[in-house]
Amino acid sequence: MSGTWETLERGRELLAAETGTACKEAEVRVALLYPSPYRVAMSSLGYQAIYGVLNDLPGVAADRAVLPEDTSAYRRSRIPVFSLERQEPIGQYPVVAASVAYELEIPGLLECLDLSGIPVLAAEREATHPLVIAGGPLTFSNPVPLGPFCDIILMGEAEESVPWLISQLWEHEGSRDAFLATVAKHSGAWVPSVHGEAVPKVAMASRELLPARSRIMTPHAELSSMFLTEAVRGCSRGCTYCVMRRSTNGGMRVIDPGKILGGIPEAARRVGLVGASVTDHPRIAEIVRGIVESGREVGISSLRADRLSDELVGLLARGGYRTLTVASDGASERLRAFIERKTYERHLLRAAELAKKHGLTTLKIYMMVGLPGEEEADIDELVRFTLELARIHPRVALGVSPFVAKRNTPLDRAPWDGIGRIERKLERLRLGLKGRATVRPTSSRWGFVEYMLAQGDMATGLAAMDAWRAGGSFAAWKKALAARGHAM
Ligand code: SF4
Repeated sequence: MSGTWETLERGRELLAAETGTACKEAEVRVALLYPSPYRVAMSSLGYQAIYGVLNDLPGVAADRAVLPEDTSAYRRSRIPVFSLERQEPIGQYPVVAASVAYELEIPGLLECLDLSGIPVLAAEREATHPLVIAGGPLTFSNPVPLGPFCDIILMGEAEESVPWLISQLWEHEGSRDAFLATVAKHSGAWVPSVHGEAVPKVAMASRELLPARSRIMTPHAELSSMFLTEAVRGCSRGCTYCVMRRSTNGGMRVIDPGKILGGIPEAARRVGLVGASVTDHPRIAEIVRGIVESGREVGISSLRADRLSDELVGLLARGGYRTLTVASDGASERLRAFIERKTYERHLLRAAELAKKHGLTTLKIYMMVGLPGEEEADIDELVRFTLELARIHPRVALGVSPFVAKRNTPLDRAPWDGIGRIERKLERLRLGLKGRATVRPTSSRWGFVEYMLAQGDMATGLAAMDAWRAGGSFAAWKKALAARGHAM
């Protein structure tokens, strides 16, 4: 097959650049699929952690597979998706387990299955096809659109449910129906063919199994050659739009600094601290100091503006930070109070001052537009305040995304603001800032698609399949959603 050799060669090159790869022979083989390209997959701590959980089980080997960068070339040359470790098509594995981070990765899952000759609809698969299991961050909000494509969906934290599931595979070898019937009785496992759209609650792993740590380091990840380790799990705060708020999974679980620092491999030169609210760790400065004073670079997945101190920002600068990134999410003080964000202007002003003082080149602020009740006056306040920040720090960038209401949050079912309205607000923002601060918006069109999936059901999942089959353009999505009864 033309292109197959190059594909395998590229896989071998990626493997050769990695440290920590598990190449294991075992009776039970799982293709661990990430429905986005390699560089994204390898920056996902959850994906890496499950790779470790599976490969630590006796008699089980997990091999990774990812969405190809150039899927059309694969399709043209009829190349299936191969596992990286074994270079075997994923259709030849008994189990394909996918980690899905968010709604817009669903087409990537369908693409990988289809390229590999696996029918995308669970109902069309036979006993000779792999079992398709999904899990990952999407299960914390709304995995229902995944239902038509998966045999099992593991809800929430999977450190315990994955080993249990594998043990059941063994026990029910040869009888898929009996296996699914047993799994359907397990809390935290959603079996769409048994439960329909009644999704169980997310599972919570025992504290002793924390922290998650990355197994593989590679220069080809978005977080290049970075060792990832969890500092906290969950969040103690209650932002009303956020799926990781305290009510989702019992609040914040804090990892002991000794466990974090002691788990960093000698060879790691860059360390990423991961968690929904890392700077809420009560001993965050001590942890960052430990990393920086060992001569390593540091990264933090979530900096809360109200938790920044002179010492912490100074340590981040010493640890290689060039951009200080915080989120304020609501455009105005009124909207931030409405979403219970508890980040106020004074916190952001201090962030700008600290970024300037410690020589960080950019202050980046994440923001949402399109919150319920948002008016032009809120955007005008954002303009006024951003100009104030830009007087303190010469380079301010706003990362702006449209608000998407998520299940399992107090703002669930809040309406979509509308593509036109969001675009007009973005234009007002750009004009108001007149080049004095950068506006980096994510697509409002894809925000709409994300909204439909976030609020959707199994029929929305089928619309996603139609849109993906029709080429995946925005026009294809509009048509597919309308045909399945979702008007814009
Ligand atoms: S937005 Fe951040 S601080 Fe707020 S609940 Fe979510 S994770 Fe916690």
